[in-house]
Amino acid sequence: MSSAYYLQKDGHQVTVIDKDNFADNCSYGNLGYVCPSHFIPLAAPGIIWQGIKWMLNANSPFYVQPSLNGALVDWGLKFMKSATMKNVQRAGEPLKDIALYSQKEYREWATLPGFDIAFEERGMLEIFQTEKNGHHAQQTVNQGKALGLDIELLDYEGLQKLEPQTKINALGAINFKCDSHLYPDKLMETLKIHLRKNGVQLISGEVQGFEKHQNKVTKIRSTAGVFEADEIVVATGSWSREIAAMLNTKIPLMPGRGYSFTLENSPYVFTRPAVLTEGRVALAPMDGNKIRFGGTMEVVPVKTPPRYERVQSIVKSIKDFLPEFDIPMPAKENIWYGYRPCSADGVPYIGRIKKYNNVIVATGHSMLGLSLGAGTGKLVSELANNQKTGIDMKAFNVERFG
Ligand SMILES: Cc1cc2nc3c(=O)[nH]c(=O)nc-3n(C[C@H](O)[C@H](O)[C@H](O)COP(=O)(O)OP(=O)(O)OC[C@H]3O[C@@H](n4cnc5c(N)ncnc54)[C@H](O)[C@@H]3O)c2cc1C
Repeated sequence: MSSAYYLQKDGHQVTVIDKDNFADNCSYGNLGYVCPSHFIPLAAPGIIWQGIKWMLNANSPFYVQPSLNGALVDWGLKFMKSATMKNVQRAGEPLKDIALYSQKEYREWATLPGFDIAFEERGMLEIFQTEKNGHHAQQTVNQGKALGLDIELLDYEGLQKLEPQTKINALGAINFKCDSHLYPDKLMETLKIHLRKNGVQLISGEVQGFEKHQNKVTKIRSTAGVFEADEIVVATGSWSREIAAMLNTKIPLMPGRGYSFTLENSPYVFTRPAVLTEGRVALAPMDGNKIRFGGTMEVVPVKTPPRYERVQSIVKSIKDFLPEFDIPMPAKENIWYGYRPCSADGVPYIGRIKKYNNVIVATGHSMLGLSLGAGTGKLVSELANNQKTGIDMKAFNVERFG
């Protein structure tokens, strides 16, 4: 949708084809963080052993469904190989650059008429309870400062002073003053209205294949008909591996399912987004007096039935950190879930592919697709216009895994 926004703005005639009805996908029920703070990719040292330990516990925040599925094995091996300090160091700068590029765009969108997206710049707290994570927080602060981000380490008193209305069970927190957030549901509705008003066609139909001639894709075949195109953008989230395969292109990618629920009229107050580190839970105040809570990462095929019981551990972690938040387990119909498109190294895939010279891929944003959305759209448009991109795109090379 962000790509469509910039492409239309730059004078292209744009059609968005989506297999659903433009009312829900991973970009709706997420936590809305627009977060330069997340410069450490998912594939980082420690995640593998932590993940194996967590997998033995049914309520843990991270789960990989064991399977001999070829896509999972391929992704898993590449993910394990990427979970190194070298990957963290390599990814830091580009993740920060694209996040700042994107944040700048959201800041601008928030001033446009009709763009009521509840964008707020209140920072984000990463709250920790253990000495070990306190030590880790100090390292993160050093790394973030080296990247030029506005960050500070808070002890318990400093943290409690920022959120005096709510008792917090913790040792301290990182205060990422550089972060911001918005209300994703409003963002998506706003984009839909804006795109339709400006002549972009939003078509419900499942893409099933492509017609190709020499080194160009000429037509898109879908359940809603056949569409001609001179440029094609593949931005199909967790389904992008299969779509790329139709274009003779390999993208290691797996869905990472997460859950969220929202208190519409929250009796509890937290004035800025916060990650409850040991619980792997995130919360965000949104659009007035709503609070959204979310978490868990289940690497599973998209057709796997939801495991609502995982939300119980989110509820428990909230109580562990915020003892006054007496939140019951939400009813199933109030629990949302979505599939994060997880690349094998935690860095998105954005750019042209080798095989066909009129295809741009924009996917693999893992836990950052909302944060990096506007910036990605702008980069896609720059690529389509054959302009110099606003940031260096090397790290996002779509075919970097060969
Ligand atoms: C609990 C949770 C919290 C999160 N919090 C944050 C956060 O705070 N900040 C952040 O940056 N990110 C967050 N994320 C991650 C973020 O939501 C995702 O990275 C992002 O939404 C991915 O966007 P996308 O457009 O790539 O995919 P999607 O939003 O899933 O869109 C892909 C679209 O492609 C369509 N599609 C698929 N196959 C086809 C086909 N064959 N034909 C036509 N259409 C097709 C789908 O219908 C879908 O609409 C969170 C995720 C979860 C689960």
